[in-house]
Amino acid sequence: MTLPRPDMPVTLYVLEDEPEIARLICSSLADYGFRCEHMSTGRQLLSRARQATPDLCIIDLGLPDMDGMQVVRELQEGSPCAVLILTGRNDVTDRVLGLELGADDYIVKPFEPRELVARVRSILRRYQRAATVEPAERTIARFAGWTFDAARHALTAADGREIGLSSSEASLLASLLRRPNKILSREQLLGERDLDPFDRSIDVRISRLRRKLDDDPQNPKLIKTVYGAGYLFSAQVTWE
Ligand code: CA
Repeated sequence: MTLPRPDMPVTLYVLEDEPEIARLICSSLADYGFRCEHMSTGRQLLSRARQATPDLCIIDLGLPDMDGMQVVRELQEGSPCAVLILTGRNDVTDRVLGLELGADDYIVKPFEPRELVARVRSILRRYQRAATVEPAERTIARFAGWTFDAARHALTAADGREIGLSSSEASLLASLLRRPNKILSREQLLGERDLDPFDRSIDVRISRLRRKLDDDPQNPKLIKTVYGAGYLFSAQVTWE
């Protein structure tokens, strides 16, 4: 993840196939000192992002060569950066899917240029704050559209639903989120308090967490079982 520093110019990529709208977006942002590069196809944006990861991408969903959601997905896999979806589709499913894929915000056209600039600034501020706070002080984790507040044990879905967690589920989720994309053994996940590595309760807690995260136990996308080794939390996680 690139983290804009206050003394560095911020680079934005704008993916929009309508020249008029692209001009409006870029000129609104340029008025506030943002440097924009414009691309009109998904492929152009993905190849540019591989050369130089931007701080933030503004992505239209209706594109000539591919679906904008696919662009968001490939971008998050290859060159993770902040994403703002700007689209004519005002559909709850699209909103939720966009946020689950890792988009930071979603604006529906027609849009007010000043609102666009305000949302861009707020996303960039959030990333800057995340970069300056000490890891131990960060208590809010965002992943795949979910928000987890480790201090309050509160889990919120992309559509705003609050999911209740027991304190043992919350501490297990926090352990997974502190070390994403790494294999964690049962001992690591149990922590210091429970020392019996054959304790099956960890598996019970994992299956409860999967259910609460809508993660299919037959084919889990978030909490993966690594046979003989433990579990792996598979998602991009940002703590702030
Ligand atoms: Ca379009």
